[in-house]
Amino acid sequence: MTEMAYYDCLSRIQNEMKNKSFSDMAKIWEKYFLDLRNNDYFLPLGLALCHRDFWIDWNGNSFDLTEEGWANLVVSDCQFEKISGIACPWNPLPGDIERDHWWPKSLGGPFSGHNLLGLCRIHNLAKGNGLRGFDWNVKPRWIDSRLDEIHQKKLFGLNKNYV
Ligand SMILES: [Zn+2]
Repeated sequence: MTEMAYYDCLSRIQNEMKNKSFSDMAKIWEKYFLDLRNNDYFLPLGLALCHRDFWIDWNGNSFDLTEEGWANLVVSDCQFEKISGIACPWNPLPGDIERDHWWPKSLGGPFSGHNLLGLCRIHNLAKGNGLRGFDWNVKPRWIDSRLDEIHQKKLFGLNKNYV
């Protein structure tokens, strides 16, 4: 499981949705979602389904997702080692730790303690918005509820129309 598999999944879903109506796009999303649920769990597909491009319902209205927030969470050390294997040599003060999304916000990552990565300023700049150090072997604890919420908001009211 790699970053490449993630981009493959994302582009495959997006290509399939090209020039489709919003309700067809929602059904395509659901097909992959059910696939994910019913077959061996494939994390790159789950992450692709979280992408912000898909936060739009079958009527074409965009929506937001519930965010747990991390206002009260304190990270006391720079966690650069977690993503790079390199220990941080700066020992920043807890107040100087910057809080970043481990799975990027731009790709649908939540403000959740399970997606929080504390980094000193230098290492936060070094990480940028990329996927460096993301652990593809561990299913993030936030992903199931996030996908359930997208599913619910995306398809709400649609099933009546075609079942
Ligand atoms: Zn650091």
